[in-house]
Amino acid sequence: MLDQLIGNERVKTLLRRMLTARRIPGALLFTGEAGIGKKLFALELAKALNCRTPEGVEGCGTCGPCKRTDKFNYPQSADGDEWLEIIRSDHPDVGLVVAPKRVLRVEQMRHIEREANYRPFEGNARFFLIEDAEKMNEQAANALLKILEEPPPTSHIVLLTARPDFLLPTIRSRCQMVRFAPLAAEEIENWLVKNKLASGSEARIRARAARGSLGRARAQDFEEFNEQRQAMLSVLQALSVDNDRMQLLRSAEELNEARLKDEYEARLDVLETLIRDAWLLRLAAPNAQVVNQDLLPQLQKVAAAIDSRQPASWISQIEEMREQFIVNINRKPATDALFLTMAAAAPPLEKKRFVPNPK
Ligand SMILES: [Zn+2]
Repeated sequence: MLDQLIGNERVKTLLRRMLTARRIPGALLFTGEAGIGKKLFALELAKALNCRTPEGVEGCGTCGPCKRTDKFNYPQSADGDEWLEIIRSDHPDVGLVVAPKRVLRVEQMRHIEREANYRPFEGNARFFLIEDAEKMNEQAANALLKILEEPPPTSHIVLLTARPDFLLPTIRSRCQMVRFAPLAAEEIENWLVKNKLASGSEARIRARAARGSLGRARAQDFEEFNEQRQAMLSVLQALSVDNDRMQLLRSAEELNEARLKDEYEARLDVLETLIRDAWLLRLAAPNAQVVNQDLLPQLQKVAAAIDSRQPASWISQIEEMREQFIVNINRKPATDALFLTMAAAAPPLEKKRFVPNPK
């Protein structure tokens, strides 16, 4: 039932309207941040159409077909050719593909095309989900075009992506787009508390740091997250209170350590939330608006040491570097350069742009 999913009431209304009218598009594009429930919503559509004992226009969630719909049989091996096949759920009419490495491959789209042309085996409709659809290369996208243009009436293909702008326009134009909004921090906090994953100030901090993504809040290891916050707080203190360039270089070095490779982006996220908090305090916003409540005293010191214009330029420098990463610049010199450019943003009125070292 859609009611059991959190947030995105507007999307629920839209999907219910489609179900009531019995007009579910054959090609759908669900867009919005990772971890906000795009896949769960897509599977609710599959349940609604294949349910044995529907409630109104929605799937009951408890009959056999509903229960089997979201049980996916992921390959056992971390990498292997099985990942190029359609990953089946326990329902024979439901499957998904994920990018085996960084790219969704043309074979995977051909499998979908072939499978989508079959009649449903058990239910009324077949559903195929494409996760991280922006990872399709041009060849894969072209292989998918034909089936997106004219899917058989009983087959539905749902593309899921946080980056719709990376899709070919020809793909986008063949799909009906459904936009998901980030979840409210309160919605995430209530969910964490209700599911006993966190309580009190931990729930509050995690919910606010998740920036609208329940998946992010769930995946977060709070201890690891605290380590990240301490490390990034020392960057912020070195930039403002202490004006300590040696510390900045040490922090850049730590950030570049191989063991932290997977944490790199997460640490930049954390740094951004700390900067935003200091900014709010600098602008005399109520303390309650601060994400990192437990770091209030340290953040207040930072706020007192900065000009109200610095945070905006710091955040845009971080964002610029992230964009550069998409085209694969070398991380190590870029991080050194980023922190030093941020330090150089004082005197605050002078706007300096972040220029990565090409070597
Ligand atoms: Zn059911």
